[in-house]
Amino acid sequence: MKECISDDMKRKISEHPCYSPEAQHKFGRLHLAVAPSCNIQCNYCDRKFDCVNESRPGVASEVLSPQEALERTTRILEKNPYISVIGIAGPGDPLDNDETFETFRLIREKFPDITLCISTNGLLLSDRFEELAASNVETLTVTMNAFDPEIQKGIISMVYYGGKKYEGREAAELLIQKQLEGIEKAVEAGMTVKINTVLIPGINDKHIVDLAKKMNGLGVYIMNVMPLINQAAFADKVPPTEQEREAIQDACAPYVKQMRHCRQCRSDAYGLLGNDLSVKKPEKKEGGTELKTITAPIIKNSEE
Ligand code: SF4
Ligand code: SF4
Repeated sequence: MKECISDDMKRKISEHPCYSPEAQHKFGRLHLAVAPSCNIQCNYCDRKFDCVNESRPGVASEVLSPQEALERTTRILEKNPYISVIGIAGPGDPLDNDETFETFRLIREKFPDITLCISTNGLLLSDRFEELAASNVETLTVTMNAFDPEIQKGIISMVYYGGKKYEGREAAELLIQKQLEGIEKAVEAGMTVKINTVLIPGINDKHIVDLAKKMNGLGVYIMNVMPLINQAAFADKVPPTEQEREAIQDACAPYVKQMRHCRQCRSDAYGLLGNDLSVKKPEKKEGGTELKTITAPIIKNSEE
């Protein structure tokens, strides 16, 4: 495995709850839901912008403007100083929304030392790379489910690029080409790259180890094999068992470090990975249930 990481980046990784399993108990992340639109359609995607009690990617209680995102960040960091990473992860694709760049600019101006992170489908990664690098984004996730277009075309139904709609194999080829180009640029520029791969039994399960090998060649730092959430066009698919996912992670581990503690967070999640403070949890009450926001975690050294 290639590893060529600066000391500063090593420290940032050690304080990033998704990149370091140890960091997840001490450091938190804040997702800012400023990016509603998306330029591709994945068959497992069901986005919701007004949802308070569901916990999964693509869900947020509301979409924020960049200014609102800055205000939210200021409020949350004041109360939760253990949060070390500010990320934009949807609810759509961050790079398909100009608000992403304006939000990063505002946050960087006010919080120059915080780690900025982004999660993208990668279609616009190489095209918008200079803007992203100018925002000082240091950690980046690309969701890459296949590098074989025959497999990819079964996972997405369309790609919208350069004012044109692509479908079938053409869409799959274009997405893969842009993802690989973008990952290469990001690694070259010194960003620490994570790949999210959705494990879809019967579609890409036999292909994921080859994908890990390919990512190793590109210098990807870590890979996160996530179980399919069966919804939208994939509502009738059977998600993998925990054992099936573990077996694939074990088979990929010789090629790329595996993230095994992902919580499949909402697009507006914040706090520790194991305690998302954005989710309203049902509280048992006599005569029924009521929704409430769970309280902040007790953290040693926190000023909370
Ligand atoms: Fe949904 Fe993300 Fe796929 Fe876009 S890239 S369709 S937001 S899962
Ligand atoms: Fe980290 Fe996974 Fe949550 Fe993304 S979805 S912030 S990788 S735990």
